[in-house]
Amino acid sequence: MKTILYDLIHNLTLLMSGFYLLGKLSPHPITVDSKRSVRILYGISLSLLSWLLMQMTFEPVPGILIDLRHIPVIVAAYFAGPLPTMIVTVVIILYRFSVSLNSSAYAAALFILLMAAGTSLLVKWLPIYSKRTFTIVTIYATLLHGLVLTYVLADTGLILDILSVVLPASFISSWLALVIIRDIRLTKQSMRTWQQTAQRDFLTGLHNFRAFTDRFDDLKQQMILQQHEVALITIDIDHFKHVNDTFGHEAGDEVLRQFASRLRDGVTDAGYISRNGGEEFSVLVEQLTVPKVLALAEQLRERIATSPFQLPNGTLLPLTASFGVAHFPQSTPEIQQLVTDADVALYHSKQNGRNQVTLFVKEIEVAITHPVD
Ligand code: GH3
Ligand code: MG
Ligand code: MG
Repeated sequence: MKTILYDLIHNLTLLMSGFYLLGKLSPHPITVDSKRSVRILYGISLSLLSWLLMQMTFEPVPGILIDLRHIPVIVAAYFAGPLPTMIVTVVIILYRFSVSLNSSAYAAALFILLMAAGTSLLVKWLPIYSKRTFTIVTIYATLLHGLVLTYVLADTGLILDILSVVLPASFISSWLALVIIRDIRLTKQSMRTWQQTAQRDFLTGLHNFRAFTDRFDDLKQQMILQQHEVALITIDIDHFKHVNDTFGHEAGDEVLRQFASRLRDGVTDAGYISRNGGEEFSVLVEQLTVPKVLALAEQLRERIATSPFQLPNGTLLPLTASFGVAHFPQSTPEIQQLVTDADVALYHSKQNGRNQVTLFVKEIEVAITHPVD
């Protein structure tokens, strides 16, 4: 009996380390919606795990193999959908047939098929991460395991001895597998959520200054590697303090939200929009010529200036914003200077009467491209 227990504990240890390593396959949890290639890889890895478990099989009677090979099938069916489940099911059955082709092998094949089909159906009907589903799937797996073992061990006189060890081990393994994989998945999901949250501005939903800095650093790296054009448009709302002072902070916040959504509508996927501070925003644009970047900035300026903002109390408030543009390598030959140069241009827009777009030009320090009417 001790031997069975040791063999099962070996199986269990292998399973747990296998699941940990499987978690490293992809940065995102692998589900039925993952890319086909990823699901195939998952199916192959689970097959490998089952194959390893079958190398540590316990053979109480010649030709009867007892191990935890069905747990990877449960995991595939539970978490990753039909494709990986089919792969692992077929691999296990074929490998089992290659070991010996007897009634025990046919029973084992039927066991694996029923395990795959039953788990797939149960998960379809029940909520995936709930403990109730874990319990139902685990009870199903253990009962099925018990039935098959009873059938194959019928004439050996060992049924009770073996079932009393194997069934608790089967139950514990299945339960632990589901819990551990769920925990790995939830940790990954919450990491992703937190990473995204850390890069977003809470008020407007735009990228925040941290995200802007990361993106700009990435671009600087790319710049070293290849010919690239990068432009920065910096934007600052004109006389924004007046909005807060006159209508209150809440109204100011609402203006910031509407301002952000106008930027989103105007930029679409042409640039990377961030809120870099209070009422200061920026758009990072790649591979656009100077006239195109200026046209984009001018389009945004118009979008803001031509229709008023609606405050929570219903007041319609006209607002404008000032823009600064710097372009690498056209106006700014040193990429490190891009932010400073765009700020100089923005400052020039402010000094020159606001509500305008200024392009930074080295020779003359700044050149006004869109004077106020
Ligand atoms: P200018 O045209 O020169 O840019 O003038 P301005 O009033 O827009 O600029 P200033 O820098 O004097 O004021 C910016 C104001 O933005 C001051 C600050 O209270 C306000 N502000 C900064 N962050 C927020 C925010 O998150 N919500 C609200 N409602 N106001 C903010
Ligand atoms: Mg400002
Ligand atoms: Mg301002």
